[in-house]
Amino acid sequence: MLSSAAVMPTIGARPLGEDSVSLRGGLLGAWQQRNVEATVPHVMQQLRQAENLENLRRVADQDFDGAAPVRYPFLDTDIHKTLEGLAYVLARGDRDLPADHLAAIRAFYEECVDLLRRAQREDGYLNSYYQSPVVGKDSFSDLVWGHELYTLGHLIQAAVAADRRLGDARLLGIAIKFADLVVSRFGPDGDLDFCGHPEIEMALVELYRHTGRDEYLTTAKLMVDRRGRGTLKHSIFPSDYFQDAVPLRELDSVTGHAVRMVYLAAGATDVAIETGDQELLDHLEYLWDDMVASKLYVTGGLGCRHSDEAIGDRFELPSDRSYSETCAAIGTHQWAWRMYLASGDAKYLDAIETVLFNAFAVGTSADGTCFFYDNPLQRRPDHNQRSGAETDGGLLRLPWFVCPCCPPNVIRWVAELQDHLVVDREGTLEFGLPFDGTVKAGGALLESTTDYPFDGTWTLRVVEGGVPQARLRVPAWAHGARLTRAGQDHVVGHGWTETLTDLRQGEEITVTLPMPVEALSADPRVDAVRGSLAFRRGPLVLCAEQQDQSVPVDNVRIPQEAALHAVTAGGDQLTVTVTGHAYDPQPAPLYAATRPEEAVADTTVTLKPYYTWGNRDAAAMRVWFPEH
Ligand SMILES: [Zn+2]
Repeated sequence: MLSSAAVMPTIGARPLGEDSVSLRGGLLGAWQQRNVEATVPHVMQQLRQAENLENLRRVADQDFDGAAPVRYPFLDTDIHKTLEGLAYVLARGDRDLPADHLAAIRAFYEECVDLLRRAQREDGYLNSYYQSPVVGKDSFSDLVWGHELYTLGHLIQAAVAADRRLGDARLLGIAIKFADLVVSRFGPDGDLDFCGHPEIEMALVELYRHTGRDEYLTTAKLMVDRRGRGTLKHSIFPSDYFQDAVPLRELDSVTGHAVRMVYLAAGATDVAIETGDQELLDHLEYLWDDMVASKLYVTGGLGCRHSDEAIGDRFELPSDRSYSETCAAIGTHQWAWRMYLASGDAKYLDAIETVLFNAFAVGTSADGTCFFYDNPLQRRPDHNQRSGAETDGGLLRLPWFVCPCCPPNVIRWVAELQDHLVVDREGTLEFGLPFDGTVKAGGALLESTTDYPFDGTWTLRVVEGGVPQARLRVPAWAHGARLTRAGQDHVVGHGWTETLTDLRQGEEITVTLPMPVEALSADPRVDAVRGSLAFRRGPLVLCAEQQDQSVPVDNVRIPQEAALHAVTAGGDQLTVTVTGHAYDPQPAPLYAATRPEEAVADTTVTLKPYYTWGNRDAAAMRVWFPEH
C-alpha cells in the first residue's frame, strides 16, 4: 500500500487514493465487486479452517493443549494482508450488499484485532509461531527463515490502512509497539541483522510517512544496506535466494527468489524516495530496465524456476515452466508504482498494466474463490506437475494452499486498485490508466468512462469545478492514438499527452487508443519461444485453450499476417479468431536427421484473454505459437 495520505515532498507527487478515486464499473470495478462478494468471505472462511486464527487464539488464551506445531512462521501475515484489504472494504461500505454480509466482514475484522491485541507479548513481540511453546523456538533466533520482520511488515501495512481508512488506531498501536521493539533490537543501535524475506522495508517507510518518526525510515534504510554481504546463514537456499550475495546497490540483475527480489526493490525505492538518494534510485532504474529487457514474461510474470521460486538467467523464459507467482506480480506492480511516483516516467505504468491485466489477473478464478500460485504460459495436454511448491496441488486454480500467501495478497491488492490510477504531481493530475469511475481533486469532480481494456475509448468529463492541469497516459502499444478536446482532435504519441490546461466544468477529453490485434515476437535470445508469436490486443495477452479449438493447440502454427485479418468480437467476453495452419505430426524419432512431410491445413484458432484461462476443465493452453 502507498495511498492517498502518503505525501512525498521529496518527489512532489501525491497519489490520489480512496478518498478521491472510486471505481464504478468496468473490469477493475467488477474485480472489486467480486472481491467483496466472493473472495473476502472465501478467504475469511479458509483462514478459520486452516487455523490461522486458531494459532493466534492459542497464544492469546495460552491454551496449547493438544495443539500441533504450526507449519510456517509466517501464517499470521495472511491475516494481516486480509485485514489490510478489509479496512478498505469496510470503509467503502455498502455496495448493494446484504447487511449481514458486511456485518460478517466487520465481525471477522473485530475478532482478528482482538486476537492480535491479546496475543501480543508485553514487550511488543507478536508472532503466533514463535510464541507457541509447541514450536519451542526463541523469537529472533532464525532471521533467515523466521519471517518475523516480514510478518511485522504486513501488520504495519494493515495497521496504517485501518487508521487511514477506518480511523481505527487499535492495530496501529499494536504495530507501533512491535515496530519499536524491532527498532531497539535491529535499529541504528541494535544488531546488524535483517529479515530473510524483505517487506519490513516498505512497511517501515510507510509507518514513517504515517507517524513522522525518523527512526522507522532510518531502520528501513539499514535493512536495505545491510543486505548483500552473505550475512544470512542459509541451510538449503543459497545467499542469492535471499538477495544476500551482492549489495542491492551493486547488483547486476534482479536475482534469487522472485517475490523477495521485488519486495526488496520496492522497499529500497521507498527508502530512496524519502532519503532523496538519487544514486540508489538510478541503480533501481537500471535494475528495472534490465528486468524488463530480459527477465519478464510477455504477461509481466516474473520467475521461471520452480526450484527456489527463482527469477533465473536473462532470457530464460520457458512458457511451460513459467512460475510467475501471483505474489511476484503484486510485488512487481508495487515496485513499478514507486518508480513511477519517483520519476513520473510512463514506462512504469506500461509495465503495471501488463502485469495487472495478465500476470496478476490470471491468478484468480472467474468466480473469485480459486487461485493460481504459479502461472504458466503453456499447459500440455498430459500435464501432471502439481501447482508450485505444493505437495497437494492441482492442475488448475485451488481454493487454498498450505502456503497461502497469494489469496490474501489478492484481496488487499484488488481492494486498493483505485489508489494506483491518479497522481497529483505538483498540481498536474496524471491519469495513468483508463478506468470507469470518479475522481475528486481540488474541489473538482471528474468522471472517467471507458470499457478498457476491451475498448480503447477513454473519456474524462469535468462534472463540477475546474482542473488547472492534467495529462493522460498513452500506452506504448498504442499507435495512432488520438486526443479530442472541444471538437479538436490530434494524434498523440505514447507516454504522456501534452499537459491540458484549464479544464472547465462540462468539458470532455477523449483519448482513443486503436486496439488492433498484434503479433509479438520475442528477443531471439529467448530460446524457448524463438520463431514463435504471441498475440495481444491492447494490454491483453491472448491465449488458446483447447476447448475452443477443432485441432490440438500444440499442432497449430500461426503466421505473422494472421494478426492483420484477426476478427474481434464479444466486448468484455473478448474473443479473437485468426487463421492458422494445423499440421498432422507424422511418426518419426524424437531426434531425426530428416522428418517426414506433414499434411498441413488451414484452421481457425480462437484466442481469449490469457487471464481467463483455466476456468473450465483442465486442458491444453498456450500463449506462444510457432510461426512456421
Ligand atoms: Zn504467493
